[in-house]
Amino acid sequence: MTIRAITLDLDDTLWPIWPTIARAERALHDWLVERAPRTAERFPVAAMRALRETLVVERPAISHDFIAQRRLTLESALQSSGDDVALAEPALELFTEQRNTVDLYPGVLAALERLAARVPIAALTNGTADLARIGIRQHFVFQIGARDHGVAKPDVSIFLSACERLGLAPGQVLHVGDDPELDVLGAHRAGLRSAWINREALAWPSHPVDPDFIARDLDELALRLEHELAP
Ligand SMILES: [Mg+2]
Repeated sequence: MTIRAITLDLDDTLWPIWPTIARAERALHDWLVERAPRTAERFPVAAMRALRETLVVERPAISHDFIAQRRLTLESALQSSGDDVALAEPALELFTEQRNTVDLYPGVLAALERLAARVPIAALTNGTADLARIGIRQHFVFQIGARDHGVAKPDVSIFLSACERLGLAPGQVLHVGDDPELDVLGAHRAGLRSAWINREALAWPSHPVDPDFIARDLDELALRLEHELAP
């Protein structure tokens, strides 16, 4: 069946996320050293991570909302260190700015342009990337994040919500992402077709379903889809 739209994962599909997060965490720490030195001393990067993990376990209601998690963590760290809790907001803004300073994988921009010229692309992410800040908003018709939707991938509802907004049946939509479970299995369960971006040339995990397409990167996938996309 012809593909009439694409839903696209962001983190680790368009850019590597962990180097980005690690850099943002270091920048946040450096900022705290200047503005809230007691907090910085008590909560270096690893301790801040550990604090967040502890806080999240206690609050499953925000398990899908990374921004709420970071705000809560900062407030808790500042308060328990005797620093000004109001610093949590500017600290979060600094982190957000750094988190949206990403290094796109080579070829991503050209592939996005090529695909977006053929079919609508919707961003579907569990993360908190800001497409406008990153400078690629113009390639997407909309973005659905787990944070706004209320549950994360692989929940089928987030895929179905995207299809509904696209005005298409799930079978007409291709979901593209790097994660076998969150992206490929989730999409399959929701009735979408799926493409696995397999940058590391890994073996497909022994899941009960196979992706419809496997490509090394978005560039290769765009070429492969040439005849599969709606004219
Ligand atoms: Mg991903």
